[in-house]
Amino acid sequence: MPRRGSLIIVSGPSGAGKSALAAGVLHRLPAVNFSVSFTTRAPRGNERDGVEYRFVSREEFETLILSNALLEWAEVYGNYYGTARACLDDRLSQGEDVLLDIDVQGARTIRQKRPDAVSIFILPPSYEILRTRLEGRMLDKDYVIEQRLRIARREIQQYRNYDYLIVNDELNNAVEELEAIILGSRCRMASRAESAESIVATFGGLDAEDP
Ligand code: ADP
Ligand code: 5GP
Repeated sequence: MPRRGSLIIVSGPSGAGKSALAAGVLHRLPAVNFSVSFTTRAPRGNERDGVEYRFVSREEFETLILSNALLEWAEVYGNYYGTARACLDDRLSQGEDVLLDIDVQGARTIRQKRPDAVSIFILPPSYEILRTRLEGRMLDKDYVIEQRLRIARREIQQYRNYDYLIVNDELNNAVEELEAIILGSRCRMASRAESAESIVATFGGLDAEDP
């Protein structure tokens, strides 16, 4: 039996570096799957349907909600975003790790529904650096950046509710920290239970009176 995979939540304010960190770690750990969310926002830059997101209309998104196809969903910056339920549990039970890049509302929902999920909050080194990075990304209009910065002040209040915190100062260091967290999660007792049992069975199993 393969070990059960880890559900890894990466969350934090817009511009904190969630996408950059996810891309870095997916490159270094190819066995980690990225959960492609549904969204009603329009594609940005070079985004492709089915790769960064699955782009759907509001009507299609509402149908997904009603048909219980989403493990969680939230309205973020005026658009709907949601995690597809399909595939997620299949992958986890096949021993594959699944990484979610989701906002703080979605992260709270998943932490409640899946207490075994590993949650990681990404903080930028400072408010000013967050502003510089959002401006440097050159994907959002000025008023959108101001809105995201305003919401960031509220979102960062949540950081203490997470299992881990990464300060995304130097990108390579931050990617290494994320990689270390994922590798560590693979060694948790719950993740290793099945392989431990099969190894212990070769010793004749556990003694009933010595649990
Ligand atoms: P998020 O996915 O959290 O919204 P991004 O990953 O898109 O954030 O990062 C926002 C911008 O900051 C991008 O242009 C990205 O290339 C840049 N960036 C991310 N991490 C760093 C870093 N450690 N140092 C410098 N720039 C960074
Ligand atoms: P962006 O539009 O910049 O790609 O993403 C905006 C925000 O939506 C980010 O904080 C991102 O983490 C979040 N997000 C992306 N997918 C999901 C999802 O499936 N569920 C939730 N709750 N948030 C998501």
